[in-house]
Amino acid sequence: MASAGAATLSDLDPGLLRGARVLVRVDFNVPLSSDGGVSDDTRLRAALPTLQDLREAGARVILVSHLGRPKGSEDPDLSLGPVAPALSDLLEAEVSLVTHKPGSEELRERIDAMEDGEVVLLENIRFLPGETANDDELAGNLAALCDHFVGDAFGTAHRAHASTDGVPRQVREKGGRAVAGHLMERELSFLGDTLAEPERPFVAVMGGAKISGKIELIETILPQVDRLLIGGAMANTFFQAMGLDTGESMVEPERVDMARELLDRAGDKILLPVDCVVGEEISSDASVRNVDRNEVGGADKIGDIGPRSREIFAREILGAKTLLWNGPMGVFEMEPYAEGTLHVARSLAEATDEGAVTVVGGGDSAAAAEAADVAERLTHISTGGGASLDLMAGKPLPGVEALDRAQDSDHEENS
Ligand code: ADP
Ligand code: MG
Repeated sequence: MASAGAATLSDLDPGLLRGARVLVRVDFNVPLSSDGGVSDDTRLRAALPTLQDLREAGARVILVSHLGRPKGSEDPDLSLGPVAPALSDLLEAEVSLVTHKPGSEELRERIDAMEDGEVVLLENIRFLPGETANDDELAGNLAALCDHFVGDAFGTAHRAHASTDGVPRQVREKGGRAVAGHLMERELSFLGDTLAEPERPFVAVMGGAKISGKIELIETILPQVDRLLIGGAMANTFFQAMGLDTGESMVEPERVDMARELLDRAGDKILLPVDCVVGEEISSDASVRNVDRNEVGGADKIGDIGPRSREIFAREILGAKTLLWNGPMGVFEMEPYAEGTLHVARSLAEATDEGAVTVVGGGDSAAAAEAADVAERLTHISTGGGASLDLMAGKPLPGVEALDRAQDSDHEENS
């Protein structure tokens, strides 16, 4: 599997890992329940392939993660304490939480006493102010604890923090390896490589609330795709650019000029909804109507793409070989406005069944795929929000740039 240029755990000689201390930056930013447990262990499960491989190779595994947003000081509500036993259960191995500070003699001794295959979890790294500041001293103290580094926290790879950037750089400076873990590798492969060299036709489906957060993605993706389908509130700004009345719908007035410019540049590549589901309010019990896009007006709020648009979008999706989906077609959280998004999700699943590669980025789109009960059938659903947007938009990710480069990939191309 290729990985946007970074070396991966699979590239390492397992002999190198036996008895070695390996610091793994994981994303254990999990939701906690009120009784102090882990209420959703998806992110713990996602880390298992990397952790199992390291244990089998006889590595001594030091886990580093953040949880929530403590402001550089200790917050007992955001301790990784509940995560250690939850991970222990999944891994079927003891995982101990270690609260000694990086740089302390106690932590050094604890790490020195580790056995091959043992796993320890350091306390929430954002309890330390140096983490988000990418402080050299903190990075040095962590790098000093290990021989090698594995980056597996894709969701924070777009941030240059001590544990994502400083540590791998310092580990490499002292001669260690710094590679992507299996989860990171998968994300880089699908969001980076697949989209960079897509099998055609390549169709992107974009929607969601705002254009503004996604301009870079639209601009990068437009020259690459054969078609760009646009729904969600994002489409409303394009409607205004076309001179259509959008009533009381959500629009970004300061982006109308940009939308007009994109339409001019895109020719017939951009496909907008031809009809809409409108209501007087966006609520779960709103009474709604289907109208053509040039019949919207007055107090109407556009909450979803209409039935004819669903059919047109589905046809485009079923004709594609590579598909990227980012952003729901409507307010899918509310039943009256859900069908457009669910229809797109089901069409993507059908296309995947027929051999297309389907990649989903964005937390709400991932939730919509779950709601449509098709998540298992899609090729790849990204775990990262901001990081996946940056990667799809072709921006370098600090947490990937800091890793070793993949060796000359000749053997990969020949096999
Ligand atoms: P993702 O997380 O997949 O990147 P976004 O965060 O960009 O998606 O957008 C998701 C949100 O957009 C959803 O909460 C949805 O309700 C909202 N949305 C979609 N269409 C509309 C619309 N027509 N009017 C208002 N909100 C909308
Ligand atoms: Mg979102």
